[in-house]
Amino acid sequence: MVKRKRLLILGGTGEAADLAAKAGTISGVEVITSLAGRTRQAAISSTPGRIGGFGGVAGLREYLQEQEIDYLIDATHPFAAQISGNAAQAADDCNIPRLMLLRPAWEMIPGDNWIEVKSNEAAARVLPSLARRIFLTIGRQELANYAHLKNLWFLMRMIEPPLPDTPVPPGKLLLEKGAFSLESERSLLGEYDIGAIVSKNSGGDATYGKIIAARELGLPVVMVQRPLMPNGEKVTDVETALSWLKNRLLV
Ligand code: NAP
Repeated sequence: MVKRKRLLILGGTGEAADLAAKAGTISGVEVITSLAGRTRQAAISSTPGRIGGFGGVAGLREYLQEQEIDYLIDATHPFAAQISGNAAQAADDCNIPRLMLLRPAWEMIPGDNWIEVKSNEAAARVLPSLARRIFLTIGRQELANYAHLKNLWFLMRMIEPPLPDTPVPPGKLLLEKGAFSLESERSLLGEYDIGAIVSKNSGGDATYGKIIAARELGLPVVMVQRPLMPNGEKVTDVETALSWLKNRLLV
């Protein structure tokens, strides 16, 4: 019997889940999805796979070898730079073909009032000059960068609550997971009298409603730019990632 080819998908995004479901239907392919395990949803995921860090580049290299992985698709979030760098190094070391699936970044269009910054630290520096009531949609990991801004009020939206002992700025936590409609984002901004938004340039449709709502209301958006990703083949959608995989299977 011919051994099935093993595809490791580094996940944590909607695209990764979609890719896993579709790649799993290709004959001769066995899919393993890896999740960092940051959310409770990960713990109950029904996708065949594994959960938790590998232990840096060395741990990932060991995993790739032990599990006899044939292909690696890094479909992690555009801001998950650490795992993408580790994946690049480990896959190169093991001579395993690797693809990055990265959804396109949002582009500023007429009517947008974006202040583009390189980091959350830089975002925190510009906020006091913009507004007093801020919608902070950067997740829970970077909250501490804003904790010193005691004169501002923050509406902070994230999937899971901040870890204990994380310094949190004054305001209210909203524990919610997208997608968020334009209508609900519009009414949220009005309900909380928001004067500015902080967002990562995550791209995709699921969280774009707040950007449209900000444009409609003339609100500034402090947009945290994406971190640099490693070199290597990149595609922007699931179908092209599947074509890449199918082409590899033909070789
Ligand atoms: P990160 O900073 O790039 O990675 C930190 C560490 O977490 C990695 O070194 C690795 O630990 C572990 N890790 C990350 N992704 C993993 C995966 N898919 N499988 C196994 N281990 C993983 O990542 P992050 O920004 O914390 O994001 C964590 C996960 O959440 C990613 O899978 C990402 O797709 C998802 N996510 C992130 C964001 C975001 O804004 N950053 C948003 C939505 C979803 P070891 O070094 O021990 O291997």
